[in-house]
Amino acid sequence: MEDCLFCRIVRGELPAAKVAESETCLAFRDIAPKSPVHVLVIPKVHYASLEEVPDASVFGAMSMLAQQVARQEGVATRGYRCVVNTGEDGGQTVGHLHLHLLGGRAHGWPPG
Ligand code: AMP
Repeated sequence: MEDCLFCRIVRGELPAAKVAESETCLAFRDIAPKSPVHVLVIPKVHYASLEEVPDASVFGAMSMLAQQVARQEGVATRGYRCVVNTGEDGGQTVGHLHLHLLGGRAHGWPPG
């Protein structure tokens, strides 16, 4: 996807604060953090949202990188929240599948 913001980060055309990488996924800090730790985990291949994912491997790989990042960032013991906003009602603003990893503070339920 030529103009996709996160595809451009994957290709190295836009800067990002990368924290981890696997063969298929990339993790980088959210530019406008909502928690002390706020990392986005994305597949390197473009999927517009969770609705486009064809099988379990994509989200499985994202989850495993999120687990690694949580440990790396020191939030695994106390806990963290993973959020995948999907579509308009889900509050998705960037059209490339991404998982928000939020940690470093208590996150209430339901989310505000
Ligand atoms: P969502 O609203 O779920 O689509 O989340 C998109 C997230 O991408 C927001 O939290 C933004 O702050 C974040 N974001 C947008 N542009 C960038 C960027 N260039 N680098 C890092 N994070 C970004």
